[in-house]
Amino acid sequence: MLADLKLRLAEIDDLNRVGAILGWDQSTYLPSGGGAARGRQSATLARIAQEKATDKGLGRLLDDLAPYEASLPADHDDAALIRVARRNYLKAIKLPVEFVGEFQEHASAMYMRWMAARPANDFASLVPGLERTLDFSRRAAEYFAPYEHIADPLIDYADQGMKARGIRAVFAELRAGLAPLAAAILSRPPADDSCIKQPFDTDKQLAFGKTIIEAYGFDFSRGRQDFAPHPFCTTFSVDDVRITTRVKPNDLTEALFSTLHEAGHAMYEQGGNPAYEGTSLQGGTSAGVHESQSRTWENIVGRSRAMWIHFYPRLQAVFPAQLGDVPLDVFHRAINKVERSLIRTDADEVTYNLHVMIRFDLELDLLEGKLAVRDLPQAWNARYASDLGITAPDDRDGCLQDMHWYAGLIGGAFQGYTLGNIISGQFMAAARAAMPDLDAQIASGHFAGLHGWLRENLYQHASKYTANELLQRITGGPLSVGPYLAYLRGKYSPLFDLS
Ligand code: ZN
Repeated sequence: MLADLKLRLAEIDDLNRVGAILGWDQSTYLPSGGGAARGRQSATLARIAQEKATDKGLGRLLDDLAPYEASLPADHDDAALIRVARRNYLKAIKLPVEFVGEFQEHASAMYMRWMAARPANDFASLVPGLERTLDFSRRAAEYFAPYEHIADPLIDYADQGMKARGIRAVFAELRAGLAPLAAAILSRPPADDSCIKQPFDTDKQLAFGKTIIEAYGFDFSRGRQDFAPHPFCTTFSVDDVRITTRVKPNDLTEALFSTLHEAGHAMYEQGGNPAYEGTSLQGGTSAGVHESQSRTWENIVGRSRAMWIHFYPRLQAVFPAQLGDVPLDVFHRAINKVERSLIRTDADEVTYNLHVMIRFDLELDLLEGKLAVRDLPQAWNARYASDLGITAPDDRDGCLQDMHWYAGLIGGAFQGYTLGNIISGQFMAAARAAMPDLDAQIASGHFAGLHGWLRENLYQHASKYTANELLQRITGGPLSVGPYLAYLRGKYSPLFDLS
């Protein structure tokens, strides 16, 4: 019976992975003329996969396997496989096939309209479509009634087991710690970042990024890097994980840090237990845990002084004219500049989560009916004024900047980014406790200690445990903002001479 289950899951997985290849191609190399046919091909595959994922025979098989599951310890691989497969199945059958098809059609049309509306600064043209998206989002949640908060079922898709109430409480605690830290840093003279805003040969930038992620442990024999307008990571199998980047000739940080970020996602995927391949246990477990890894390698490691003790002389050797006379401390402050900014994806570590919380709160307001879609730009600007002390000159850099609400549901789209930062602080505190000389390892260019620890404690488990279960296993406690706040304070106080 277990063999039957694995066979069915592998078939569904094959269809989804082929769909991922089509999606990757669409975001990298597909000529613009190929868009319509590709959309149809992707929809066909998704429909067949959805039929198989909701097949009644699969449900019966899972029922039949319940006694076997009950006879095993909960953390036995077979028990976990049946448990996670059942959870996915019960979620999948809640949504009627017609609803899924109707929404997918709407979402791809919305995405095309957003692509045109953002450069034209035309929020008004998106209002009727976005109202329909909100209606779809509420209906999607209703299929899971009863719920505590209407956003809960939508949050659960990305961050299994998390709820609006718990996230609100944790975010409030994080904000209470972040706001004074941000204010203190912003009251100091800003970091001079002119050294990273010079002309840099783009091929050399890309080669340097690859050097770093190879040292991190990204396996190029089981992955590759290509260009995309919006960098992302996608998995075709545990042995084929793709990342993308973009490069700017006048900004050293664009390609570099997007490469480190996506490599963090990719190393998590590459580190999964190969025995889980083709089953419900493969791949990262949640948006939050995934983001914890991208942010670890991008920021906690990638913007640390320790790492640049090793890599900065090498970077200077690649760009002697630009950086030869710039001391390490100046470079390190430049890549950690804190400022009031409008764009989430460009925001520094200290203010980044304030951007995310604005979006999370607005999603809840929209779903609760407290905020009308047409009033979104005003609500957005009011929150940026009060939380970040800055207002976008137009909607392009305001409520039109992120594609999430224009390509998917409203609800559950943003909390994972901040959950990821919080979780990264907790996991790294545990890693440091296990390896007290971690900074010395990193400063000598050795990342195998950290990578090995993460593989052992986190990556190999893939989707076997939820985020909450992983936190319990690795840190011995629940989600907690303390370690992340302590990390930020410890890093930024000396950087900006805070008392
Ligand atoms: Zn990410």
